[in-house]
Amino acid sequence: MTGVFLGCHSEKQTTPEMDKFPYTVDRFADIEILRYRVPDFESLSLQQKELIYYLSEAALSGRDILYDQNNKYNLCVRRTLEAVYENYRGDRQSEEFKNFITYLKQVWMGNGIHHHYSEDKFVPKFSAAFFADAVKGINAEDLPLEKGETPDDLILKLTPVIFDPTVFPKRTNQADGVDLLLTSAVNFYEGVTQAEAEEFYDRMKNPNDSTPVSYGLNSKLVKENGVLVEKTYKLGGMYGKAIEQIVFWLNKAVSVAENDRQRDVIQSLIKFYESGNLKTYDEYCIKWVQDTASLVDFVNGFTETYADPLGLKGSWESIVNFKNLASTKRTETISKNAQWFENHSPIDNRFKKENVKGITAKVVTAAILAGDCYPSTPIGINLPNSDWIRHDYGSKSVTIENITEAYDRASLGNGFNEEFMWSDVERERAKKYGSLTNNLHTDLHECLGHGSGKLLPGVDPNRLKAYGSTIEEARADLFGLYYVADPKMIELGLLPDNEAYKAEYYQYIMNGLLTQLTRVQTGKNIEEAHMRNRQLIARWVYEKGLPDKVIELKKRDGKTYVVINDYEKLRILFGKLLAEIQRIKSTGDYQGAKVLVENYGVKVDPVIHMEILERYEKLNLAPYRGFVNPVYKAVKNADGEISDVQISYDENYVEQQLRYSKQYSNLPTFN
Ligand code: ZN
Repeated sequence: MTGVFLGCHSEKQTTPEMDKFPYTVDRFADIEILRYRVPDFESLSLQQKELIYYLSEAALSGRDILYDQNNKYNLCVRRTLEAVYENYRGDRQSEEFKNFITYLKQVWMGNGIHHHYSEDKFVPKFSAAFFADAVKGINAEDLPLEKGETPDDLILKLTPVIFDPTVFPKRTNQADGVDLLLTSAVNFYEGVTQAEAEEFYDRMKNPNDSTPVSYGLNSKLVKENGVLVEKTYKLGGMYGKAIEQIVFWLNKAVSVAENDRQRDVIQSLIKFYESGNLKTYDEYCIKWVQDTASLVDFVNGFTETYADPLGLKGSWESIVNFKNLASTKRTETISKNAQWFENHSPIDNRFKKENVKGITAKVVTAAILAGDCYPSTPIGINLPNSDWIRHDYGSKSVTIENITEAYDRASLGNGFNEEFMWSDVERERAKKYGSLTNNLHTDLHECLGHGSGKLLPGVDPNRLKAYGSTIEEARADLFGLYYVADPKMIELGLLPDNEAYKAEYYQYIMNGLLTQLTRVQTGKNIEEAHMRNRQLIARWVYEKGLPDKVIELKKRDGKTYVVINDYEKLRILFGKLLAEIQRIKSTGDYQGAKVLVENYGVKVDPVIHMEILERYEKLNLAPYRGFVNPVYKAVKNADGEISDVQISYDENYVEQQLRYSKQYSNLPTFN
């Protein structure tokens, strides 16, 4: 008997909602702005909707914090630009004004004057003279003037910040040999040298403390009268006005928590915001990581430390999400059958695990993105960051499927598949099954692939050295590739039919042989382990399948395409390579690893590379993407109680940013 077809995914592939949903919102500079759906929001209970609504308000309330953390002038720049945008009475069709709008959109995207990814300061394409005229042309009361300041003072203050390339050139400087604090534009330290800050925090650390707090996470380090002091982010402290709003909404959330444990989690977070005490923060993290039963979940606080050159200060972020039950069921199904997959794997029996345990990944739906998760956002979360808490209590690892969906769907119409896929057959399959099989391949890779197989007794796990991670990724990928085509997938209800896997096969080979080269610079070889592994797999099966023409590289109008002639033989080749890679891993065959990686994974054909780069460039695709959020509206009854929360998707990028600036402008311009 075949299993019950879950239907979640392939159904999603064909829903009219998805086909007509406006995923693409805006395009400027090197950025494309997308919109994500929040499927199943309507079917949540009123209490859950209310909870999401309050947590979303708490999320958006912290918006100004991140701007100020990224650079102390960011709020002033943003408010000045927005005032000009809304009140400019000159020619709004002029090149200068259009370039001004692009710059403003970039500032929103970067939460400040620096690019969110490269960290370089944006270069405005309008002139300083235009800026000065525009600022002078609007009413002074619309400008973010400090006490006693004139518009001329403001122009004088901001002109170097916006236009001088030597002022704040880099948000976070990681280059060796200079003072990283003095050369970084972030606002985590002021008047403090790197040596002083390092000494300050080294003195706090106790090497015998097995449960250390995250020193410096929630404060700015400044020098006052020659003495170093931390200005703590807390209620009544630094960023107190925004934190007050966050706490206000968190308290509302407490009243509609799903269960006692979740209520306790939110209350602990409130306590942390009230006290700024990092011990309390750890207590909160421990409770948070243990709450796995609640449907609704969130991140809210000073979290990732990438923006601090010393890796101590947490950038403020928030994301609210709820469990995607259908997709989580998918990873549960895979995990439950882990032993079956292990037993049927095409590897040597000596390398199989007698007792294999799969991992269940939690799949979630994002409901709101904020702070450092907006507009640019991660597709997965793995928290908390504290090492000892991870060790003693574990971590939560989730993938955010509605964000992935938006990426996938937006890519369908951008010309990429039209340019690089051989025919409509491949394109139709990609459209129909692409997201489904891609997610399934990732699940097989993560939940089973890495955990399968074993080393022979006495084999040092580090024997493959520099080739170890490429071999390991190849092993997990091949496990997924082999099984995504197995009839078991249909039996378990994970795939609708025996056509679906072909979408993943074609996409994988096209990427590995051709299109991933778009991310390699001319003249360079492949460095990154995942990219090496993908080329290794694709080139190996291509070469081994040549006598049977399993895969061909065909030319049409001077362009190279992947054509797969025999999908079933391709699966057999994946199985053969999996057996070989597993043998290398299990026996610690360094030489074997080296030969495979060097022969198949590293070198790039310069002619094909050039061709792919040229074709890609003509598509003029945006290398970076950000998002707008949906809008939640609380509907109240005559007694003022919330009777429903409605979701809508019609706000565009500019409207949303301007609304946020009005509604959630919780901090003074300088803090
Ligand atoms: Zn992996």
